[in-house]
Amino acid sequence: MSIVVVGSVAYDTVETPRERRERQLGGSASFFAVAARGRGPVRCVGVVGDDFRAEDLDLIGRHADIAGIARVPGRSFHWSGRYHADLIERDTLATELGVFADFRPEIPAAWRDSEYLFLANIHPALQAGVLDLMRGPRLVALDTMNLWIETTPDLLRAILRRVDVLLVNEGEARLLTGERSLARAAAAIAAMGPARVIVKKGEHGALLFGRESVLAVPALILDDVVDPTGAGDCFAGGFMGSLAQAGVGREAPDAAFRQAMLDGTVTASFCPEGFSVEGLLRADDAAYARRLATLRTMMCP
Ligand code: AMP
Repeated sequence: MSIVVVGSVAYDTVETPRERRERQLGGSASFFAVAARGRGPVRCVGVVGDDFRAEDLDLIGRHADIAGIARVPGRSFHWSGRYHADLIERDTLATELGVFADFRPEIPAAWRDSEYLFLANIHPALQAGVLDLMRGPRLVALDTMNLWIETTPDLLRAILRRVDVLLVNEGEARLLTGERSLARAAAAIAAMGPARVIVKKGEHGALLFGRESVLAVPALILDDVVDPTGAGDCFAGGFMGSLAQAGVGREAPDAAFRQAMLDGTVTASFCPEGFSVEGLLRADDAAYARRLATLRTMMCP
């Protein structure tokens, strides 16, 4: 079962207390594609400029079909951020849209029947444009951020009516709903459309507010955090890859989503261990299986 992802394919300049990396491969769709580990398979929709290095496109192409990534004249999307000493809080220093400013997503005709759709964090009008082109996916998940909640609330509300799973962090859930309690925020989001809400809590794990139950999954405890950029997108890649592999659609009971929550958590755990996608690339099947076993032990005394 195939997954279409639309999102940023970007260059990131990241400063941590220890190191600074200039224009490394980033973007929500890039992290998602590498994180899905060939499950799906993943079909990427996005745009890059003529400054985008061939080796970076090749790298994404080793993990996903990149026929939907357009290359056009201009600069690639560039995001720059600085992490605080805790390696959790970060300040966005710059968001340069570049070729993203005029991006109108096109989906290859053969991809429009794909069963799964992940609308990664981009302008809600672009997310809606992609959803309009799809023919009845089995499950639609969406990620967003403060920027869109604050600047394009109506567009976001309109697309949420057509979404099955929303992935947000705690702050975004509260901002979107005005509710302090996460339980109330999740209920308010469900009333907006998505029957299932995943609240990402970084080093504290993730919650799945389902139709009839709540699942809490802790995060794996890491020895070393190098660069957490993209961990949320990696969670989404692991989660959606798992659903696609198991054929879980929107009609499935909450219990069918449990394994996907574990796969998202394990996948996300590799991301902060390196810059860009380096941590993900180092994770082989054996390391993945070990972490899954550790996570199960952590959850089950
Ligand atoms: P995360 O750490 O999971 O929030 O994802 C960070 C990634 O999102 C980086 O690789 C950025 O290139 C990308 N990103 C940051 N801001 C935006 C934005 N406004 N639109 C699209 N992608 C973004």
